[in-house]
Amino acid sequence: MVILLTNDDGVHADGLQALRAQMEKMPGIEVFVVAPDKERSASGHGITIHQPLRVEEVSIDGSRARIWAVSGTPADCTKIGIRALLPGPPSLVISGINRGPNLGTDVFYSGTVAAALEAAVLGVPAIAMSLNGYENLDYSYASRVAACLAGIILKRGMTPNSLLNVNIPALEPEHIAGMEVTRLGVRRYNDEFERKVDAKGDVYYWLAGGVMDVENAEGTDVGAIQQNKVSITPIHLDLTAHWAMDEICAWEIDLPDRDGGGPV
Ligand code: MN
Repeated sequence: MVILLTNDDGVHADGLQALRAQMEKMPGIEVFVVAPDKERSASGHGITIHQPLRVEEVSIDGSRARIWAVSGTPADCTKIGIRALLPGPPSLVISGINRGPNLGTDVFYSGTVAAALEAAVLGVPAIAMSLNGYENLDYSYASRVAACLAGIILKRGMTPNSLLNVNIPALEPEHIAGMEVTRLGVRRYNDEFERKVDAKGDVYYWLAGGVMDVENAEGTDVGAIQQNKVSITPIHLDLTAHWAMDEICAWEIDLPDRDGGGPV
């Protein structure tokens, strides 16, 4: 079976290499890695269409996987991996293990989650893996969680058009308080723009500011991580607000006349 690994921290990132080493231990699995040639965190689901994608095969000591570095986004990597580089469609895509969490509203900005979403768009089961810390990270337990979930998905399959968004506490395994299947909470940033002046006298802004966990209620991914639990959130591609459709229909929207007349 073929598995594709990718990430948004770049092809040489520790989290990806720990994941690769773990997945290479799984029997009957052929591992391929297609990842950005440099860090592309917070790049969302962008794809590259106005310039070529450069692809370079790289070798990593001790690995028997084929590994490509791509001059594009995480979503590009999943797309070009599945459509052009791999010998056939993978049975699973795993994105990560990201340095830092991807909780709640983060999923809209995350390159890690976007790479997994792109797999779901292409009909391939996917997992996005993130470790909830930034310093002195040990990816070994998170790698074992990824292998465990991969084994289950390869056996049971995944509901179509969906993926798992998994966040792991950055703790020694004995301090992890179990796991919870969660829904997305709400996490925002206080979006402080620092206004500065450059050497030429021109004004520029730098986005800074910290995270605010707006909704960390029981059952959310934000809440589970705060309780030192592994959080597993199934995410679906359908962003439709189905419950709002009746309300919008009730507006009885009267479109402007096509000839330029009408009320607007
Ligand atoms: Mn990242």
